[in-house]
Amino acid sequence: MRIGIGYDVHRLTEGRPLILGGITVPSPLGLDGHSDADVLTHAIIDALLGAAALGDIGQHFPDTDSAWKGADSIELLREVVRLIGAEGYAVGNVDAVVVLQRPKLRPHIDAMRARLAEVLEVVVGQVSIKATTGEGMGFAGREEGAAAHAVALLVACEA
Ligand code: MG
Repeated sequence: MRIGIGYDVHRLTEGRPLILGGITVPSPLGLDGHSDADVLTHAIIDALLGAAALGDIGQHFPDTDSAWKGADSIELLREVVRLIGAEGYAVGNVDAVVVLQRPKLRPHIDAMRARLAEVLEVVVGQVSIKATTGEGMGFAGREEGAAAHAVALLVACEA
């Protein structure tokens, strides 16, 4: 078994959709970035890459490469699952926390888990997503941005 950690942050801005875990969450503010800025999926990608010691998201999908402009992060995750599979690993479980002041994410969590589980090639019980606010403090609390933390366990596939 191998464990990995991932962390990401994106700025909140007007005129962008708020996409988390591949799900568009209704919100007056969205996340800004080169790709779709899905901060949760990015943290999970880094946790998976970290567990396999395969570098980080910036190495695989550089934001200087126009190929990834506006990229659907779910498709990047799909590619990372393929990479770790090629290394002989499958996803054991993923746990993540999104730090966002508002809106409340609870009504959308199960849709994110289902979407991510499909791409991670696991059942929904292997994907945990949690949400917290910044309690009004720091960049998340001031609604300047959102962060996500993730850990992932990989298990060696049967040969
Ligand atoms: Mg990112």
